[in-house]
Amino acid sequence: MIGSRVFAGRRYAVLGLARSGLATVEALVASGAGVTAWDDREEARDEAMALGADIGNPLEIDLVGFAGVVVSPGVPLNRHPIAAHAREAHVPVIGDIELFAEARDELPPHKVVGITGTNGKSTVTALVTHMLESAGIPALMGGNIGLPILSRDPLAEGGVYVLELSSYQIDLSHSLACDVAVLTNLSPDHLDRYDGFAGYAASKERLFGLQHRDQVAIVAVDDDPSKMIASRINHRLHRVSAKDVDAADQARWPALQGPHNAQNAVCAIAVCRVLGLDDEQIERGLATYQSLPHRMELVGEVGGVRWFNDSKATNAASAAPALAAFPPAPDQRLHWIAGGQAKGDGLSACRPWFGHVKCAYLIGEAMAPFAGEIGEAIPVDRAGDLATAVAHAAAAAQPGDIVLLSPACASFDQFKDYEQRGDVFRGLVQAMGGG
Ligand code: ADP
Repeated sequence: MIGSRVFAGRRYAVLGLARSGLATVEALVASGAGVTAWDDREEARDEAMALGADIGNPLEIDLVGFAGVVVSPGVPLNRHPIAAHAREAHVPVIGDIELFAEARDELPPHKVVGITGTNGKSTVTALVTHMLESAGIPALMGGNIGLPILSRDPLAEGGVYVLELSSYQIDLSHSLACDVAVLTNLSPDHLDRYDGFAGYAASKERLFGLQHRDQVAIVAVDDDPSKMIASRINHRLHRVSAKDVDAADQARWPALQGPHNAQNAVCAIAVCRVLGLDDEQIERGLATYQSLPHRMELVGEVGGVRWFNDSKATNAASAAPALAAFPPAPDQRLHWIAGGQAKGDGLSACRPWFGHVKCAYLIGEAMAPFAGEIGEAIPVDRAGDLATAVAHAAAAAQPGDIVLLSPACASFDQFKDYEQRGDVFRGLVQAMGGG
């Protein structure tokens, strides 16, 4: 577990007791801090109590004198009353990544890599971690991906913590100075939680503002908002681009196909160069990387039809490269399952690739708006739900075809999360004899 003597004698409130909340309670209590914890679920409160926390709703108690209110990144700070309540008491609202940042002084000498962007964060995080490990450097993934960072054992000297940071996690950090900070790309997303695109972009940009002068920024400048951010960075900066990747090189990296993965690879290569890996170590890491579940994951082949699960594509910008990856051929047509809870960015990012699609099977709340947006551009099947979409696609697909679930939407209208959506899809394919 990662803790710190600096927490001793302080009192924290912890709001939200899922995995990272409980790990936070445990780390703070073990460090000698007092903790007042809350979750609307009684079982979670019981677990926190067993770990040594007092139970109390931070919204209902006087927070004056608290060292911080630790909230999970899922709490919408722009709407949730805890933000104002904490402000009135002059108490910072923070996340577990901030506690990790404050605990760094007592960790063995190490480096921190922070990775943000609208899409590709998890892929770059997992890829960098894999490349480091395959070069014999101890590395640990944290943040959005993987286990809560505070529940992990500290790395030995020379280790690298690789943190996937959503904009919410950056908002909840005040002293996280990443040795290497990465921005993969930027396009409209999460607009329900920010004051427009500018607010969302500013949140990402803060990751660089938190760095010290001698630390390194890496920005993929393939889109205008990212270019703009790069132009404002005045410490060490490497600009990279998907175009820097040679197609012949990329062909050797089986789990990193498609233009989006060229961008992810170029970001990861830049990080590893800064951290001192040589060309051979970098190449070995790229060639042996295996893709994460729900990201262009081949889940089965049934009767010559290949089924891909890209459930993690929760916005149009991340579904677009998946469509781009399957150009039509005489014996390969693309059947695209899309829809769910729309995020308001429409399908315009996917439009350039509509020519790749034989038929779009639409599901969820976005079915009608997406059908309207697609219009006559491609044939549409208003399937409604995932099981129906799979059945219709299975009936229509011929040997050689591809069926791709790349929803361009959040999943919350019909599923618990994108992982459950992808698991259900995999299950449906396997029930047909695939996998
Ligand atoms: P994140 O963690 O930022 O959500 P992931 O690496 O999990 O990103 O990928 C999420 C989705 O975005 C996947 O569907 C993937 O195909 C797509 N994607 C991955 N990298 C990129 C990229 N660099 N640009 C656009 N889309 C991407």
